[in-house]
Amino acid sequence: MMLAERAPSHFRPSPTLRRYYAALLARFGPQGWWPARTRLEVILGAILTQNTAWSNAARAIARLRRAGLLNLRKLRGASQADLEICIRPAGFYRQKAAAIRSFLEWLDRTCGGSLHKAFLRPPELLRKELLGLRGLGPETADAILLYAGGKPFFVADAYTRRVLARHAMVSPRAGYAAVQEFVHRSLPPDPEMFNEFHALLVEVGKRCCRRRQALCGECPLKGFLPPEARVNVQDAAALTSPAAP
Ligand code: SF4
Repeated sequence: MMLAERAPSHFRPSPTLRRYYAALLARFGPQGWWPARTRLEVILGAILTQNTAWSNAARAIARLRRAGLLNLRKLRGASQADLEICIRPAGFYRQKAAAIRSFLEWLDRTCGGSLHKAFLRPPELLRKELLGLRGLGPETADAILLYAGGKPFFVADAYTRRVLARHAMVSPRAGYAAVQEFVHRSLPPDPEMFNEFHALLVEVGKRCCRRRQALCGECPLKGFLPPEARVNVQDAAALTSPAAP
């Protein structure tokens, strides 16, 4: 638990978001994220799942495993061609191979090649450094920080943005940083809760709060939908909804 690690001075806990979390957990149960065996696997998965379904990233991870490359030393020594062949199922394989290389070079240069040392760095500094690497945007950096490092950075992905926007908690046009800041202001900086809440929001986004169809009648969050939002949500396709399946 790292509650004291990063508590913003303006932090005010929100009972509302806690109730969302409790309702989702009661319906769907613990999600057991991130589906990975090691920190390196989490990091690779976070890069490989960019712009594709997790199933494609998982196929790429399985190929890396079969090739013996889920190991820092062997991954460093792999040829560009071998790496690209393994990760091809995840799409954008050239860019993703470059992002993996960029991460490994930074790890060797800055942390002596040690993931343990990397996650001992001050979290805000570490985030800034990750964001400076080729091919790592905020969602990937935060997934690495939260799921591989246990650092309290909420992954404010498109599912989260859609649910919160449809419930009029953030603007439909709010970007990643604004939505993340809203969550950080509303919940204690608890990595375990951020982990589970993010996974649960993905689940509700896939099952009920779909991009073109909001199945509010069967959704565990239907009791929280503000009356003024109901009309808009019923015509969900008309909403400016953040993209996600
Ligand atoms: S499906 Fe409806 S009730 Fe559920 S999160 Fe989306 S807008 Fe809210």
